[in-house]
Amino acid sequence: MARIVQKFGGTSVGDMDRIRHVAGLVKAEHDKGNEVVVVPSAMSGITNGLVDKIHAMSPLHDTREYDVVVATGEQVTCGLLALALQNIGVPARSWLGWQVPINTDDVHGKARIAGIGTENIVSRFAEGQVAVVAGFQGISPRGRITSLGRGGSDTTAVALAAALGADRCDIFTDVDGVYTADPRIVAKARKLDKITYEEMLEMASQGAKVLQTRAVELAMNMGVRLQVRSAFEDLPGTLVVDEDEIVEHQVVSGIAYSRDEAKVTLVGVADEPGIAAGIFGPLSDASVNVDMIVQNVSADGKRTDMTFTVGKADYARAVAVLEGIRDTVSYRSLDLNPDVVKVSVIGVGMRSHAGVATIMFQALSEKGINIQVISTSEIKISVLIAEEYTELALRALHSAYGLDAD
Ligand code: ASP
Ligand code: MG
Repeated sequence: MARIVQKFGGTSVGDMDRIRHVAGLVKAEHDKGNEVVVVPSAMSGITNGLVDKIHAMSPLHDTREYDVVVATGEQVTCGLLALALQNIGVPARSWLGWQVPINTDDVHGKARIAGIGTENIVSRFAEGQVAVVAGFQGISPRGRITSLGRGGSDTTAVALAAALGADRCDIFTDVDGVYTADPRIVAKARKLDKITYEEMLEMASQGAKVLQTRAVELAMNMGVRLQVRSAFEDLPGTLVVDEDEIVEHQVVSGIAYSRDEAKVTLVGVADEPGIAAGIFGPLSDASVNVDMIVQNVSADGKRTDMTFTVGKADYARAVAVLEGIRDTVSYRSLDLNPDVVKVSVIGVGMRSHAGVATIMFQALSEKGINIQVISTSEIKISVLIAEEYTELALRALHSAYGLDAD
């Protein structure tokens, strides 16, 4: 007997037939004698629709009420899935976040899980019951409904798997695993059998949308065995594992991209102590996330340019902040460019191989693609390029690193 958490994404529970199909997948695990927790997302499109309604009612809304509204999507699928299971003879009960309870902090809109009470669910296992737990929601210390940030059902599933000591956490989605690159753009992308937590974390945070970043982080810290697999086809998916479980490392395991960045350059800022703090302090006070940063050496020791990227969602706010500090940091002009994409090559093999960056720069230069900003970490190299070259760059890099399927 094993203890399994199964998470189903929005398209997997997108209509009544699909919910019935999911019930069949849950029944298959239950019939093996396993203890099963199921975590559904809201039906696809529902959360976006709820967010639109909130904005229509109140653009600058109270985030406590935002959470009350957005948490309803998962309440619907959770109840319907419990019914679908009962219809095929599987004893099942739905659980909302507060009923489990899934305790969170009170950062409404992107709350973090502080702890999960497992007693209720475990006692129902003894009765052979399947627990259907609403994803994406919890309860704050003040007893209010919280939500875990977009894509947060992944985190619900991983946190439950960790708290329950589950043997496996299966993330069922509309793709059959994690690919070397987005298969909609790179036709020769290959499905990975295994990927390390660290690589998955970089892939998720650099734009691959298959798992929520926070969920991967939690799985890595808690040692949860994650599998990303298709809800529609019975195929082995991609296992997210520790590094020592992968024998043969590719230098680069995957290529991710994010169109979610905008480039900002402060032209002619003073080259003196305190300027960076004077720029990035106010941005961070305004909750603007800054990603890549480059500062040039000044030719004359007096003025230089500072270039960085911010998330597109923070772009307007960032510009307002920068206009507000024009006098204090005294820059000459503001150069703005939202039409950029960040392309990242990722692989733990980079730690032990030289020349990985050169391959990237050469491949891009052969296609005549100009690199605007570069940043690196131990297992990742990212470049910022013009958005119009996204497809060309991804395909060229995929070939250059020998990732193309035969
Ligand atoms: N329904 C939520 C969202 O769309 C949570 C999730 O799907 O994971 O963000
Ligand atoms: Mg998702």
